[in-house]
Amino acid sequence: MPGWTDAHNHLQDPRLGDPAPVIAAMRAAGVTRCVANATCEADWPAVEALALAHPDFVFPAFGIHPWHAHTITDAWFDRLSKLLEKHPHATLGECGLDQWISSPPLAVQLPVFIAQLRLARETQRPLTIHCLKAWNALFDAFAEAPPPPTLLLHSFNGSIEIARRLVPLGAYFSFSGHFLHPRKAAVLEVFRKLPHDRILLETDAPDMLPPGPIISNPLPDSLNHPANLPAIGHALAAALGIPPEQLATLTRDNATRCFGLTSTPP
Ligand SMILES: [Zn+2]
Repeated sequence: MPGWTDAHNHLQDPRLGDPAPVIAAMRAAGVTRCVANATCEADWPAVEALALAHPDFVFPAFGIHPWHAHTITDAWFDRLSKLLEKHPHATLGECGLDQWISSPPLAVQLPVFIAQLRLARETQRPLTIHCLKAWNALFDAFAEAPPPPTLLLHSFNGSIEIARRLVPLGAYFSFSGHFLHPRKAAVLEVFRKLPHDRILLETDAPDMLPPGPIISNPLPDSLNHPANLPAIGHALAAALGIPPEQLATLTRDNATRCFGLTSTPP
């Protein structure tokens, strides 16, 4: 069985506790690498420390999540630019637009997102996007600031029509275990129609908990352990009607391409 790549998690999140045993459990479950996404300036040092301690396993993404757009300091953009310069394999994320929440409002999220779009384009770094109920605003932002060559729409829950507009822009789409809940069947239907070479797999741990039967590594307080990834992969493979080995290879190779990684683990 090839190893699984977690295209999007928050390994630095203090709710997961000491990362060493978490990473050991991920490896034991068959995960061979992950992209750890920062969400605000305060967690950039923790993501950086993880990437430095586990260079073959943790690939860092630095950015400002739309929920934290109101927390930026005057120095944020300068700090972000310097971090990217320091880490040539780092990508930009998690950033994006969210109209499911009302605070901070879109007007506060937008300039922070556009600045990150511009930086990603300028530095040619892949960009991980969180977009909830804000598709028109996203396409407007792309018109103002063209995106970099590859994008990841993480936990993608848009329609197939939206996906078809995003594919020519270099978009990839990651599936999270939360979408295995029966009430999310429409999302699964969209993933059945997506081009196979654009599908990635993620946990978004410690959030986006999959349904009970899929959970291989339970945690208290409904937290999602990133070692649940292979079980999520097996469930998605069954839903797509392909062998799990095929999905593991596909999502591993797609992640290598999407994130511009130089090597692929077995
Ligand atoms: Zn996330």
